[in-house]
Amino acid sequence: MSQGIEILQKIFGYSAFRGNQEKIVESVIAGNNALVLMPTGGGKSLCYQIPALARFGTAIVISPLIALMKDQVDALIEKGVEAAYLNSSISHSEQDDIVGNLLNGNIKILYVSPERMMNEYFQRILERIEISLFAIDEAHCVSQWGHDFRPEYMQLGMITKKFPDIPRIALTATAGEATRGEIIRCLNLHGSSLFISSFDRPNITYEVQKKTTKEKDFYRLTQFVQDNLEGQSGIVYCLSRKGVEECADKLVKAGFKAYAYHAGMSANYREKVQEKFITQKNVIVVATIAFGMGIDKADVRFVAHMDMPKCLESYYQETGRAGRDGLPSQVLMFYGLRDLVLLKRIANKGVGAAARRRVNEEKLDAILGFCEATTCRREVLLNYFNDPYQGPCGNCDICLSEQTKQKLINATEIAKAVLTCVYETDQRYNVHYIVDVLKGNISGVIQKNGHHHITSFGYASKEDEGFLYSLCRQLIAQGHLKMIMDGSSEIKLTQSAIDVIEDRKEVMIRADFKKGAPASKSAATKTKATKKKAVRKKATTRKKAIATYRPNDGTDKTMYENLKILRSKLAKQKRTQAFKIFPDKTLMEMAAQRPQTLDDLESIYGVGPKKLQRFGKIFLEALNGDA
Ligand code: ADP
Ligand code: ZN
Repeated sequence: MSQGIEILQKIFGYSAFRGNQEKIVESVIAGNNALVLMPTGGGKSLCYQIPALARFGTAIVISPLIALMKDQVDALIEKGVEAAYLNSSISHSEQDDIVGNLLNGNIKILYVSPERMMNEYFQRILERIEISLFAIDEAHCVSQWGHDFRPEYMQLGMITKKFPDIPRIALTATAGEATRGEIIRCLNLHGSSLFISSFDRPNITYEVQKKTTKEKDFYRLTQFVQDNLEGQSGIVYCLSRKGVEECADKLVKAGFKAYAYHAGMSANYREKVQEKFITQKNVIVVATIAFGMGIDKADVRFVAHMDMPKCLESYYQETGRAGRDGLPSQVLMFYGLRDLVLLKRIANKGVGAAARRRVNEEKLDAILGFCEATTCRREVLLNYFNDPYQGPCGNCDICLSEQTKQKLINATEIAKAVLTCVYETDQRYNVHYIVDVLKGNISGVIQKNGHHHITSFGYASKEDEGFLYSLCRQLIAQGHLKMIMDGSSEIKLTQSAIDVIEDRKEVMIRADFKKGAPASKSAATKTKATKKKAVRKKATTRKKAIATYRPNDGTDKTMYENLKILRSKLAKQKRTQAFKIFPDKTLMEMAAQRPQTLDDLESIYGVGPKKLQRFGKIFLEALNGDA
């Protein structure tokens, strides 16, 4: 047995590596550098934790997520690993203790913030100890073009100069080509092994909806929450603090246990919300994007975005917080043209080079393209991350929708009118104006510039306005039009627009878009029958997923529920998170296999010797009816 797998089983209690983990672990144990691209929840931590335990000396893990460090270290200590962390939240006397232990060689894994890593005093200490490896977590933070740039990260290049012979492993869940190049340059990983895992999260069901009215969208949200909460937890993201407070308030009024969370609240209050989210059931946190970073909660059943995120990287990361336990989970996003305008304005406000603004703009175009996708969402999303994937996936709204199965319709004629209109008005106006012209809205147009030669004027007077807006979005998403972000939101033609106007290209749109009214696809207007059908369908997928963990299909929901209750009691007692005691999968296996002895129990997924010792007896008692 290799050293890596032995540590995986003995210390971490897992029976097998996932995906690329084994290759990565073996390579780093052998002393090689590595760049690891793996989606959130894919299991990056073990990629450096196992080599850290296999190699001689102390592993230094650099992470920007201070909030995460304590949890990770606690989890390691729980498994009997000598781990510690140093960051600004630690008192001086504690720091001295940790440094003492470090110098005595009593720490196998030390987590530090990037600021600490740059501290000269700390670097002098590092020179006096044996270092097994450097792990640079969230390595995309070196990238200026990324969504999460940290200036301190750029300076980490110093590691390669000061400690050139110590293996470096850089890890991230953001895989864009440009970001990857920057990580390689900054951390001098030229020629290192590159490990790219598939970014697919097959257990997540993607759904995206156009915004309608606040009331209807909120109604849809409550349905979504109702259908998916399942006694577990969920996150709702809003763009603004005001949006957060409103939405949380409404959810509470609708009878849910919802809490608002944003940077304008006191640290104390936020901590309380976070604690509730982690330890209680049925909790929904409504938050700005500040929430979720570093919260390793495996049973988040849904993530909803009430507004469009600023890029697909953020969207992927935020939705990636759902279903880390591998069980079916749902994500839902609402988007609208107004989000786009707002986000463009925000992006434009930031100081920085024109190049950076252009990148932001392209990122916005990409996410809009995802929202307006006419093909499988998973396909659009994964291709964006250079992860070739061919739909249909059967697990996104487009693949699942009966309506989109009616195929696409050819909208070349009306699209040509829109593009011509943009051309005839000198590419100087925004979408609203273009729609006005096409509708032949005299008061909006003629008075403004008196163009009488506009052939597209009134061309679409009979078309529904909602449809025209939707068509403009489609044309932007498909790359025929570009929105300029200097605050005016002017739209311009691209080369591909010229191809359409000159009949070299056709424009296809989703049939349901043609139906017009922006609300057409909202579940609020779905018939009762289809709703019921959808619920039934979901229930079956979920059952299937659970069944895969039950070799004998002796479905014993009661036992599983009992074990969950026991687990949450223990978690409360020990002030830890339930899944750190045992993940859901472990409880499912226990309920299905009914182990009788400690030996039986040890063969269950997720049960290592340390946990067997701590929790074995009490779970056996529960399993055998004494509890
Ligand atoms: P990431 O850092 O990539 O988001 P983590 O390292 O936090 O992911 O791992 C996500 C979850 O998957 C954790 O609960 C972890 O314990 C679990 N996990 C990781 N590797 C394995 C494995 N080989 N077998 C079973 N569970 C694993
Ligand atoms: Zn799909």
